Amino acid sequence: MPKTITLLGSTGSIGTQSLDVARMHGYRIFGLAANSRVEILQKQIEEFHPEYVAVVDPAACEKLDAALAGTANAPKLLKGPEGLRTLAAMDGPDVVLNAVVGIAGLPASLAAIESGHDLALANKESLVTGGHLVTDAVKKYGVKLLPVDSEHSAIFQCLQGAGGNQPVRLLLTASGGPFRTWTREQMQNATRAQALKHPNWSMGAKITIDSASMFNKALEIIEAHWLFDMPPEKIQVVVHPQSIVHSAVEFADGAVLAQLGVPDMRVPIAYAMTYPRRIPTGSKPLDLFSIGTLTFEPGDPVRFPALRLAGECLNAGGAACTILNGANEMAVAAFLRDEIPFGAISRIVEGTLEACGAMPADTLEDIFHADLEARRVAKETAEKLK
Ligand code: NDP
Ligand code: MG
Repeated sequence: MPKTITLLGSTGSIGTQSLDVARMHGYRIFGLAANSRVEILQKQIEEFHPEYVAVVDPAACEKLDAALAGTANAPKLLKGPEGLRTLAAMDGPDVVLNAVVGIAGLPASLAAIESGHDLALANKESLVTGGHLVTDAVKKYGVKLLPVDSEHSAIFQCLQGAGGNQPVRLLLTASGGPFRTWTREQMQNATRAQALKHPNWSMGAKITIDSASMFNKALEIIEAHWLFDMPPEKIQVVVHPQSIVHSAVEFADGAVLAQLGVPDMRVPIAYAMTYPRRIPTGSKPLDLFSIGTLTFEPGDPVRFPALRLAGECLNAGGAACTILNGANEMAVAAFLRDEIPFGAISRIVEGTLEACGAMPADTLEDIFHADLEARRVAKETAEKLK
């Protein structure tokens, strides 16, 4: 049966690949949401004819409003962060796919769940910053939370064959990023171009920098904790430069199940869209002979402090993971503007965690307060490093 989908973050890397899958299978798009890239959004509107479009950035909103004026069958335009939440909550789709980047995705995730929608989640920041709110809401409203992140999709897929057995350990794979073999000193002044050159995946700028610093893996440890109810000490990061094994689970009897495939986000996107059914995605078949060798090495928390910080923040509880996320978002943005050296990213995050100390995260308001405070402190620290 063709699916109907609301896609938040449609103009991004995951968003456009989700539309590739939708196009391939003739899925209906109920709603599209983006922040600022109006031209891409306009093309998507022309092709997919959504009923609703949400645009967060005010200038982009005005631009799209003007462009749509007088157009026959134009979608209804919802504005600002409130519009994004309204769209996420609207009846119409079979599944809401949240591919927004950053904490901005959290209220939309909650709105979708609280309205009874199954949520296909690429926006890992929803779980990093509001993991307990999201997982509590999923239980309360009885909806499905379907991971899109490739590692978490792999774990989710492996658990389909688990017969209800809880794994004893998660093996979370990581490509290691472009600086996998670099020394700490070499990494200090790595350039933007070097950090944006991911060996295996083509992704949005923020997550690509996070892959270079391994903050992406830190966020994914936290994401895995909430999705699979695992303490951080039972989540092992396994650096696997070929990105063929997308992650694995270990059971009490010693059996380890892994999911393999060529690196192609359309596979986990499609699985989250159509779970438990599998559909063609256009992904190339896996040719193990041409790959030949798969290698594995431990993650290095000395060169990549993010790997240590994830467990520390989860164990600290409260808003620690939100602070880590907010400080990192701020530091990455500053690095992308060439304002700070690459090595400063982890120093800013660590300094912000120390300066902010313990903060509560009981409510959405607490979480956004901690996020703002983390950004303020991170910005101050980044200014000093300019
Ligand atoms: P991109 O930067 O490519 O796209 C982000 C999307 O979010 C865009 O549509 C953007 O709109 C929109 N957006 C940005 N800010 C806001 C905001 N404040 N409110 C609403 N929408 C906003 O990111 P990716 O597609 O790479 O990543 C999206 C999410 O998926 C992230 O959480 C990432 O960690 C996760 N993910 C991504 C993977 C990948 O392969 N790319 C793999 C696994 C997870 P606009 O473009 O109009 O500004
Ligand atoms: Mg991932």
